[in-house]
Amino acid sequence: MIKIEGNAKINLTLDILGKREDGYHEVSMVMQSVSLHDTLTLSKTRRDIFLKISVPWLRADERNLAWRAAALIKERCGVKGGVRINLVKRIPVAAGLAGGSADAAAVLRGMDALYDLQLSEQELCELGAELGSDIPFCITGGTQLATGRGEVLRRLKGCPTAWIVLMKPRISVSTAWAYQHYDAEGAERHPDNLAFEQALEGGQLSELPPLMCNVLESVTVKEHGIIESYKEQMLERGALAAMMSGSGPTVFGLVRTKTEALHLANHLRRQNSEAERQPDIFVARTAGRGTRILHR
Ligand code: ATP
Repeated sequence: MIKIEGNAKINLTLDILGKREDGYHEVSMVMQSVSLHDTLTLSKTRRDIFLKISVPWLRADERNLAWRAAALIKERCGVKGGVRINLVKRIPVAAGLAGGSADAAAVLRGMDALYDLQLSEQELCELGAELGSDIPFCITGGTQLATGRGEVLRRLKGCPTAWIVLMKPRISVSTAWAYQHYDAEGAERHPDNLAFEQALEGGQLSELPPLMCNVLESVTVKEHGIIESYKEQMLERGALAAMMSGSGPTVFGLVRTKTEALHLANHLRRQNSEAERQPDIFVARTAGRGTRILHR
């Protein structure tokens, strides 16, 4: 049996450079793994794939990315045996945190270990990229510049350790919707990823906030004003930076210490306790990798 964690990601920057002939967008973004994770246990079965999820509202069939990752490895590596996957879901769904990709990444790594396939990280990433653009990052994790459609990765100097408060409004944003609206509207401000990379080299957390920028933020904020309001709440309460992750709607705030993060999270819970739809709030820290095998 393999127990494995799949970490969520946040975007420290997100730029869209154009639309490609294959319909995907060309992106350039700095991605960061965070310690908020789903936990998966994998055990061998004779032939079939079984998936059980801790939440009832997520489909546990062949449409789920965890299931598809297992099927892909079985097919490509000629694995006759099957797998029973038990998925404990903590990363909010359709939130801009790559939760589905984190699960697929964990299953790819887990199947490799379970069946002793000895696939290289590169081979796992190539398989992952067939299922989703964020999966190679979720396999390798840490702090990386992602280009192409998000699957071309270059490791950067790790982000200085920071604590992160994640605030997920009770709304869902589809990635396709955000990109379509971006095509129509564009963005006024774009991140400078070279300057961001240099700031990471400098190793000072305080250098990062002015360079953090997500071109999809204005698109999603226009439709869901609550995102701007959550950002303001975080900044008013001393977060070094507050920004939307990916296509949203999750907003994250950056602080230096665990104590500050816990205080900020408690404050935000109190401030929004009367709201009609209360946000989900999580505390995490920056993580150096995307998946972690706990035990075999
Ligand atoms: P990204 O930032 O990569 O766009 P996201 O965090 O916005 O991802 P996910 O949580 O990955 O979004 O969910 C996107 C869609 O994928 C959902 O509509 C969900 O139904 C589907 N999905 C398939 N498998 C999973 C899974 N294991 N966990 C969560 N969602 C999944």
